[in-house]
Amino acid sequence: MEAVAATAAPTKARDPRALAGELEAFNSLYRPHLEAVYDFAVRIVGERDLATDMVRQTFGLAWRSFPEQGNDVAGRLFTTARVCTLDSLRYRRDRNGKEREGLHFTRIDGHRVPDAAVFDQSLAELVWDAASALPREAYSLLALHVRHDLSPDAIGLDRTAAVRLARTREFFDREVSIRLLATRARHRCSELDILVAPDDKRELAQQIRRCKRCRETASRFVSPAAVLGSLATIAPSRSLAREIFNRPRRRGVFGIL
Ligand SMILES: [Zn+2]
Repeated sequence: MEAVAATAAPTKARDPRALAGELEAFNSLYRPHLEAVYDFAVRIVGERDLATDMVRQTFGLAWRSFPEQGNDVAGRLFTTARVCTLDSLRYRRDRNGKEREGLHFTRIDGHRVPDAAVFDQSLAELVWDAASALPREAYSLLALHVRHDLSPDAIGLDRTAAVRLARTREFFDREVSIRLLATRARHRCSELDILVAPDDKRELAQQIRRCKRCRETASRFVSPAAVLGSLATIAPSRSLAREIFNRPRRRGVFGIL
């Protein structure tokens, strides 16, 4: 009987020593992604508690299917986190509401910036405002692409979804460029200057499309997507890392997740 059980479900019958090895392997593969996955989640849901829950759930699922799942650790983690966070928001109304204090969405990471000279805090804020205004579904894909460097393939998008992602990025870049032109470069073009006051977005967009000077000015701005990619990672609490990666060992009990 025991032999049958052992061969039938080798991974269910985790013996402690094999499990310790597995845990170590799991930690070395998954630990490096914790900060990025947390940042991804917290920027979607807008608050720490819910993001922490979602990250806990994501790594719990990963541990349960470890080591059977494939090599694409980052892709699996992020797509799981994406499903978890978007699901959680369907049952919530007050997202992006409370608990914004203590969260620094618009801090810039000096190491990620292509040209530090052109960055400033108000640009980061403008970019993050535009990103927060996107539907969460669209934002989550844009974030995977420009903040976490996953290709549409790695995210598991089919062609239609990949095209939609490309459109989201264009839309995002255009929205931010219009804002930038309107706030920082209106003096360069008298027609633009006239249109900024009534703040008609469609008119502004049209003007920028047909005016060579405005287009040139816009092309000198940093890419808004690059700015989004340069926002500093929001770190999870230390206790979350301990909970996910050390808990079984510390308590001397294996396979808690
Ligand atoms: Zn112009």
